[in-house]
Amino acid sequence: MPRTHTDALTWVEHCTQLLAAQVAALDEQAMTDPSALPGWTRKHLLAHVAANADALGNLVHWARTGEPTPMYSSMDQRNADIESGATLPATRLAAWVNGSARSLAVAMDALTTDQWRAEVVTAQGRTVPATEIPWLRAREVCVHAVDLGTGLTFADLPDGFLSALVVDIQAKRGLVAVPDGPLPDVAAYLAGRPHSLTGVPDLGPWL
Ligand code: ZN
Repeated sequence: MPRTHTDALTWVEHCTQLLAAQVAALDEQAMTDPSALPGWTRKHLLAHVAANADALGNLVHWARTGEPTPMYSSMDQRNADIESGATLPATRLAAWVNGSARSLAVAMDALTTDQWRAEVVTAQGRTVPATEIPWLRAREVCVHAVDLGTGLTFADLPDGFLSALVVDIQAKRGLVAVPDGPLPDVAAYLAGRPHSLTGVPDLGPWL
């Protein structure tokens, strides 16, 4: 069953709560430990997730006003914001993660039906209707909640989300078929994350 706009909004909310619960349990030391993503501490990852909420907020603004507001002013700026965000104290960073998620939810909630249909351009240069914004956010917040490396796995994410993720990545990677196996493992495999499938080719990183 194809994902709906309501599905995506529900997954954003669900995974935002999952992530917030993990973040609340991290002290300063645990925040500076490595995440599951190469080269990034948990602070880098959380700064990226928070900056993503702000960036998607720019697209919501675009949809609401018609005034072109890109997610990031440049990729250099995007990376610099992650680096500087990663130097914040744990409590400030947690406040940014939670506050940015809340602001995005409020902004999305205020969009009218017509505004949801407005076209915006993603950081990858794709022109999409604003209804794609919750899916972009769901992908980021759900997958990175696992990448935080605090014990969550793909099996902790909603099945509907995992199915939609498999469809999305299969198309993006141009794969004619996906391997058989438990849904969380297939999704993790396609996303380039640790999985328990055997005899499958290495796909390389994804998001
Ligand atoms: Zn990301």
